[in-house]
Amino acid sequence: MLLAPSCGGSTGQGGMGDDSAASRIDMDAPALSSELRQSIERAANWALTRAEESIRHVVGRRVLVRCRARVDDYLGDDRNAFRSWTVAYARPERSELVLALDRLRPDPPDDLESVLVHEMVHVVLGDLERSAIDDTRVVPRWLHEGLAQVVAGSRYLGGDDESLWYRAKTDQLMSLSSLTSGFPNDDELLRVAYAQSSSFLAWLDGRVGRDEILAALRSWLHGDAVNLDAALANLDPQWSFTLAEGLWAEDLKTFGLFALLRNSCFNVLILLALPLLAIILYKRFRREQRASARLDRWEADEERRRLARIAIARRRLEADPLDIEFVDSDPFTDVETAHDDV
Ligand SMILES: [Zn+2]
Repeated sequence: MLLAPSCGGSTGQGGMGDDSAASRIDMDAPALSSELRQSIERAANWALTRAEESIRHVVGRRVLVRCRARVDDYLGDDRNAFRSWTVAYARPERSELVLALDRLRPDPPDDLESVLVHEMVHVVLGDLERSAIDDTRVVPRWLHEGLAQVVAGSRYLGGDDESLWYRAKTDQLMSLSSLTSGFPNDDELLRVAYAQSSSFLAWLDGRVGRDEILAALRSWLHGDAVNLDAALANLDPQWSFTLAEGLWAEDLKTFGLFALLRNSCFNVLILLALPLLAIILYKRFRREQRASARLDRWEADEERRRLARIAIARRRLEADPLDIEFVDSDPFTDVETAHDDV
């Protein structure tokens, strides 16, 4: 049984499937209002269609959506399957989705739309597993959670690229083989496992292609290959999931660094701006210093010119005091003229 914790969200507007007559969802929501129940049903129909289109598989039976206002409204195993962060989980073998409305948040990955799409991907993959030749052939957990997160468009539990980059650089990534039958119980390792699955599937989508990945999965489930690696290699000899895992880890070391810088862009810009700010302040200081020096020189020159004018006027007075009374000239005007000639 796959219990895939996720979250749920806001208004419950699915954007599709508002025709209740075409609904493929059975609702088990006894305490909810008719309006809220119908809203969740519409959102669930839309999420199911989106998951089917993404996995290229149509679920052949109706999907049961169980919904309660609070986690504690569930009892027994239903309640115990909720961990502290679980908003919803899927039981793919039953085509069943279990949701607690009090765990929903307004934004991904915990908004209603993201949660429903994530869990519906599990339901669709569970339906795909029904075509397997025996019960030993099941969809690996890393592929389940990787596809669920990529299709929902949000990474579960908030695992970030920085932690993946660090783990790639220090060779501490968990191997896909260790994430095949289940995920770790430890909270931090669980967060990393989700982040790895999401990152790897996004990488596979870009390099190998979704159709190729799903074709390999079907081929293996149908018994056409001994394992998933061989199934992918049969379709394209240059690829296997193990080879892809190694290349993804190498890319992660490089591209993870860029993601780290991008996510820390503000802090990096601040650090880069500090030397620039220091240069600007230094230049400003030097400019002010030069302006101050020019002002000092100008004031000194003015003082010298003033003293020169006084000295010239005094000498004229001492040389011919009578000129003061009879000469029709202003000695200070002459001083200005004398100064101009300097
Ligand atoms: Zn999940």
